[in-house]
Amino acid sequence: MAEALPDFPYHPDPVGTGAVVESDATCLNCGQARGFIYRGPVYAVEELDESLCPWCIADGSAAERFDAIFTDDAVVPDDVPDEVVAAVTTRTPGFGGWQQEVWQYHCGDGAAFLGAVGWSELEGHDDALDAVRRAHSGMGDQVEDFLRALDKDGSPTAYLFRCRHCGTHLAYSDSD
Ligand SMILES: [Zn+2]
Ligand SMILES: [Zn+2]
Repeated sequence: MAEALPDFPYHPDPVGTGAVVESDATCLNCGQARGFIYRGPVYAVEELDESLCPWCIADGSAAERFDAIFTDDAVVPDDVPDEVVAAVTTRTPGFGGWQQEVWQYHCGDGAAFLGAVGWSELEGHDDALDAVRRAHSGMGDQVEDFLRALDKDGSPTAYLFRCRHCGTHLAYSDSD
């Protein structure tokens, strides 16, 4: 039985989303093979793909040693404190999208990433659907067809988040 994964408040199920996989690979930071490896994006000078364990992400040691971030910090609302941005970008597993990933924030905090989703997963979340709809309002009536074409495993894809405070679902989409 593998060790329980560390707690990631902003990415509660990284195995479910595919950001962390079972692996016998050795972590380049701690030198241990702990049964899981991170396979999401790493922004660092060194090539660190599938080379870091989730424990070294959770405690910030991997980010510190390699001056790495796991999620781009280009788009962050003004009301989000720097400590939150640091937690999201340096102590939370990122996720791979078709384009540059855009972490979602709400109520002055990072939202929890729930995974890549398509129409069938989004259908019950009117708040998240509205967010994608608003982002594509230029499409006019065709936006409804666009929403129905969203595909968890294909393109376009949506990325679902939930606010850790008010519970609002958030989403955005990208495509190949
Ligand atoms: Zn490690
Ligand atoms: Zn909220």
